[in-house]
Formats: sequence, structure tokens, C-alpha cells
Amino acid sequence: MIILIRYGEIHLKGQNRPYFERLLMGEIRNAVKKFPGATVERGDGRYYVENFDEADGEDIIAALSKVFGVHSLTPAYEVEKDIDAIAAEAIRQMDEYILENGKKSYKVDTKRSDKRFPMKSNEISAEIGGRILEHDPSLVVDIHKPEMRVFVEIRDKAAYVYTKVIPGQGGMPIGSNGKAMLLISGGIDSPVAGHMVAKRGVRLSAVHYYSFPYTSERARDKVIELTKQVAAYAGEIKLHLVHFTDIQMAIYEKCPHQHLTLIMRRFMMRIADRLARESGMQAVVTGESIGQVASQTIESLAVTDSVVELPVFRPLIGMDKIEIIERAQQIGTYETSILPYEDCCTVFVPKHPTTRPNMESIIKSESVLDVDALIEDALSKSEVIIVNAD
Ligand code: ATP
Ligand code: MG
Repeated sequence: MIILIRYGEIHLKGQNRPYFERLLMGEIRNAVKKFPGATVERGDGRYYVENFDEADGEDIIAALSKVFGVHSLTPAYEVEKDIDAIAAEAIRQMDEYILENGKKSYKVDTKRSDKRFPMKSNEISAEIGGRILEHDPSLVVDIHKPEMRVFVEIRDKAAYVYTKVIPGQGGMPIGSNGKAMLLISGGIDSPVAGHMVAKRGVRLSAVHYYSFPYTSERARDKVIELTKQVAAYAGEIKLHLVHFTDIQMAIYEKCPHQHLTLIMRRFMMRIADRLARESGMQAVVTGESIGQVASQTIESLAVTDSVVELPVFRPLIGMDKIEIIERAQQIGTYETSILPYEDCCTVFVPKHPTTRPNMESIIKSESVLDVDALIEDALSKSEVIIVNAD
């Protein structure tokens, strides 16, 4: 078995194309490096993964289907460029496919890039299609809306036969579009937001605020686990764990309670912005969406934005919670996100948070705090860990 990898959007990148292709090559190599023997090559506008142990095939496909920039992938079988060999392989795969999916109508699609092969594409399709029908007369040819397709490719090196095209992540290879700092909580939204931005080729770092001893060790482990799950797509993530308790206590003691959440969020944004700029990142990312909670009304978002220098990306801004949950399920973070460990924000929640804050009154409420000193102190008690997928 070999695996054919198609890439989509990076085809469009004109002059930068070699750069994107190199990055994607690196990401693909990285995804398959733990499988003995696996090699990656590029040719004919695709990548080929070859020489691995067939028993690893499914795991390699699973790994590749997390690589941004991969449009689709296909397990294909290489056979001699001989019509009998091709037909035998096509029949074997059809039988297998029918067993798994119980389909009846089919079509053969052929691409012939080796023009020395003595039959034309449509002749090859007709011949293979006919032999399949001889083998199983209960099947029906349907060239318009077939339930299954057999693909035959005649290339310089060999012929390839396959039936499956598995969708990849799409997007662009990590590293092709700069770096951003993700604010990651233990919730459902922020891992999805991180995945969405990383999908555009943005390398991520992350920051999490925890309120030990009000939040437990397990809540912290949960965030590390979620970061690991995002790293399975986004690659290595540097995670800043920021000790937030003293800031929260100071706000709680000195500021009007209806403004607690917003003032707290301004601190989160300031720290994220500062950490991001210190390491040359170009944006801050959150999992907010309009109106989801009091701190995410348009007015509230404006109040939190105003303390940040970098652009703030909120990829979930127009999504409903149900849509976000569906995505979390697709990318595999949902089950971890719903584990019931308390978050730092739920510890100090006001009973009646402001939903339509007025900028001046928030600034006034905040003015009793020594913002810079609180931030310095929190950062001095923070740690950084490097998170990689398993
Ligand atoms: P989530 O499901 O991501 O927790 P949420 O709906 O609970 O989101 P909020 O708690 O208001 O919303 O948080 C909004 C955003 O702020 C989160 O998506 C995340 O980006 C950031 N955030 C919230 N809490 C933390 C935290 N403890 N550490 C880091 N970032 C946080
Ligand atoms: Mg949250």
C-alpha cells in the first residue's frame, strides 16, 4: 500500500508555492516519522508516502488526516502496468468495498499520465468496468451518480488502483502564516478557536490562567490535555500557566462586583498581549462569540479589546454553541472539555454582571488597582511548559 496525498489551497499561492510545498513536506514527514520505513516524496503535484509496514496503514492515515494543508488522502495499491494486473486489483478492492459498504452502482475513472501505455483512459475504464461486471453481475454501472468509484492511474513508475478518497483537514501548513497566542480555558470553545486559527497555517502558543488553590490540580491537567489535543493538529505548543489568584483577589476586594468579570478579562488580555509581543507573535486568539455570555456582548468585547495592542482573533464570533460543540466533537476535544473541573472564572463570578458596560466606568473601577505591579507579580509566579501530542 502507498498513500497519495493531495493538497488544495496551496496550489494557488503562485510564487510562494515552493515555500508552502516545503513546509507541507516537513509537516507530512513529521506526521509519519514514527512509522518505521515510511518515506515521503513529492511528484505530479502530490505527495506519496511509501515503504511503510502495511499494518501501520490505518494509523498513518489517521496521523495524516490531522495535517493542515492536506486536502485529501488515499490508500492506493501499486501494480504493474498491465491490464490484467490492474483489473485483478480493481476487483479485489471492489469486493472489499462492497463488503464494508454494501453498495451496488459503480464507475471506473482512469487517469493516464504515461502516454506510452497502449490503451486510452476511456478504454481502460471500459475494460476494467466490464471485467468487474463479469466478476459480479449483480452490480450496475452508473456513470453519473455512482455509489462507488474505482480509480485507476497509469503513471511513469507503475499503475495505482484505489477506491477511497478520505477528506483531509484542508487549510494551510503550520508555520505558513505567522504565530498567535491562544487564550485557552478548560471549556469547549477555546480549543476549537485554536484549531481554526492553526488551520490557516498559524503556529500557536497558549496561555492559561489558573486560580490555585480555588481551582484544582485536575483542572490544570485538563487544560494541558486539551492543549495536547490541539497540538495533535497544530504541532508543538508552548503553554504559559499563569498564576491568576492574586489578581482575582485584588479585583474582588477592591472593585465593584458587577465589573469583576470584565476587569478580570482585561487582565487576561493584557497578559496574553504582552506574552505574545515578547515572543514576536502577531495576534491574540480567544474562543468568544457574540452574546454567548455577559462578557461577550459587543460592548464587553470592546472593553476587553481596548487594552490589547495586537489584533484579537475570535474565529467563533458568529457561531452558535451547537455549531461549536459539533466542531469540538469532530476535532476530538469535546469529551475532555466537558469534564466537570472548575475554571478560574467560575470561582469569582458576580451575581449580576454588567452586560452593557460603559468604558469610562470600567476604567474608573479599575483605577484603584496597580495594574502593572499585579501583572509583574503574576508572571513571576508563572511557568511555561512545552506541549506535544502523544
Ligand atoms: P470556553 O468554552 O472557551 O471556556 P466560555 O464560553 O466559557 O469559553 P469565557 O469563560 O467567557 O467563555 O471565556 C471566553 C474566552 O476567554 C475563552 O474562550 C478563552 O479564550 C478565554 N479564557 C477564559 N478563561 C480562561 C482561562 N482561565 N485561561 C485562559 N483563557 C481563558
Ligand atoms: Mg471558559
